Formats: sequence, structure tokens, C-alpha cells
Amino acid sequence: MTAKPLPVFDGHNDLLLRLLHKQKPAAERDFLDGDGERHMDMPRAIKGGFVGGLFAMNAQKPDAEGLAEDGEEISNLPMAPEMPYDYALPATMAMAALLFRIEDESAGRFKVCRSAGEIRRAMEKGVMAAVFHIEGAEAVDADFDALDVLYRAGLRSIGPVWSRPNIFGHGVPFSFPSSPDTGPGLTDLGKELVKRCNAMKVAIDLSHLNEKGFWEVAAISDAPLIASHSNVHAIAPSSRNLTDRQIAAIGESGGLIGLNYANDFLRPDGRNNPDIGFDVMLRHLDHLVGIAGIGCVGLGSDFDGASVPAAIGDVTGLAGFSEAICAHFGEEDARQICYGNWIDVLERTWGG
Ligand code: ZN
Repeated sequence: MTAKPLPVFDGHNDLLLRLLHKQKPAAERDFLDGDGERHMDMPRAIKGGFVGGLFAMNAQKPDAEGLAEDGEEISNLPMAPEMPYDYALPATMAMAALLFRIEDESAGRFKVCRSAGEIRRAMEKGVMAAVFHIEGAEAVDADFDALDVLYRAGLRSIGPVWSRPNIFGHGVPFSFPSSPDTGPGLTDLGKELVKRCNAMKVAIDLSHLNEKGFWEVAAISDAPLIASHSNVHAIAPSSRNLTDRQIAAIGESGGLIGLNYANDFLRPDGRNNPDIGFDVMLRHLDHLVGIAGIGCVGLGSDFDGASVPAAIGDVTGLAGFSEAICAHFGEEDARQICYGNWIDVLERTWGG
């Protein structure tokens, strides 16, 4: 490939959790210099056309149940245990500190962005644009003190739950085949969190909610509905994927679905087997576009969090994938899917 790859603004990665678990000093240098581990570091990201995205903080212990290794089948894992606030808050602080140290050490090549304008300016200057996102709000207390403080630090997107229960609601366990309708949704505190996020113009991520929680957010929230890294249930009937009704509701709200590259959320057989071509990924995109509309579909890789198709390999594989999207949808629509729609939906959520 000789031409410059299409830019990709991506809805979800777990880089910060990967770096946190390395437990060595100066993990920010591993990202900036390139440690070559798992899917993402700065040099590889640049090669693949990755220009920015949501950088998730998931306060997950390295040996926690409910976290699959590369290649391990995760079809029917037990629901992950609750994550106590007194673990989650310091872990989130450590991941946020890593994010800001990457920015500090990057010599202007990496910026934590708090508005759509900042993302667009960063992209124009060739600066990687990162959005501070929490995946599972265990670090937020029942008085929402941490929410106010984290917002001022740059937090702009929250998934109220990961695939575990917390004070805000019930996450969806990883099951296959399974409906996403797996149990109770939001708690009263969870509903209050949605209202507070609306008032603060913080994006709410639906990706790890079960179906009941999804519809509760849809009923309460006045923001566009966003599922940052989820796929099509009609193609791959995983509990983590979205039914056609959910996809339609996201489209009607002017929201966004980011395509997840996890093998087991892509494959019709639910296996964690990386023998998947771009054709399967394009099938999911076609289905999403067909229901939600071309303006409501983007990418949400799950790099450094999930096992991804061999056709992608790591973030450098984005160059080939964006080229396949371009060949399939045409350049204009491909630019929307690869970055434009994400920036637009964040602008609709955050305001100008
Ligand atoms: Zn996730």
C-alpha cells in the first residue's frame, strides 16, 4: 500500500488498561516509542491511519474472571464480579494519569480533546486526538463527586456499566447464542447518572448495557444514543450485539454504532477464531447502514481489549480495512464511517 491510509477515528480501545497492567514505570514511553505488544502503540497507529478515538478506562483487575485471553472462547463466561469503588477509583486515576503523561511526553503529537473543534484541529495538524472515556462507572460514587472532578479533568464519555453489576445497573454478560435481554437494567442511581451526564453534556455509551438498560437510557436521555463498540445481533447472535430494533433506535436518535472487531462478536458462529476476512466486517457495516443510516455508523475496534481478525492483526491493519471500506462504500461514505460520523455525533452530544 503506497497511498496514505484514510484517517480513522475509533470508538473504543483498551490501551490504558494494557499499559496499567504492565506495572512498570514510564509505560507512557512504551506507547510513544512503540512496544509492539498486542494491538496498539503510537508508531503502529500512525502507520494504520489511526488519528484518534475514545481511550477507555476500565478498572479491571489483570486476573479478573470475565476477561478472556487471546484465542480463549468467551461464549459463556460467568458474569464478572463487582468492582469495588476503592479499587476502581485509584485504578481510574492511574489510567487517567497515564493518558495525561502520554500527552505531556508526546512533544505535541498527542492531545486529550474536550470538544469536537479540538478533535478537528488536532486531525488537521496531525496530532493524535484522545477522548477521556470511562468503561464502567465504578469510580463514580453515589454522590457523583468523582463525576464532577473527572469531568473537569477532561472526562467526556461514560459507559455506566461494563459487563458486571454496579451501583448504576447491570451489565450484559458474554453469552452466545443469547438475546441481549439478560436481566434488570438501571438502578435509580443509574437513571440519575444518565440525567447528570445529559446536563453536563457527557456522552453515554450503551455498549455493555443489557437490553432493559438500553431502553431505559433511550427513554430518559435527551442525547444521541451511542453504542461505541457493538455489532449486529441478526448476524452474530451474541448478548453483546444489538438487535435491529436497538439499531433503529440509535439511528432515529442521530446516534452512532461503532463496529467492534472482536472475533466472537463478528462471527455468526460466535467463536473466538481470527480466521475472518473483511467481508464479514463489511456485512455488519452494511446491515448497520441499512437500518441506522450512513450517518450513524462508525468504527469501535476494541484494540488491546479483544482478539481481532487476522485480516486486521493490529492497528496497522486499519490501512487495509479502511481501503476495503472505501472500495465497498465509495470514498465519501467511507470517510463518514472511518472518522466523520464519530466527530459529528460527539459534537451533537457535547455541543459546539
Ligand atoms: Zn468493552
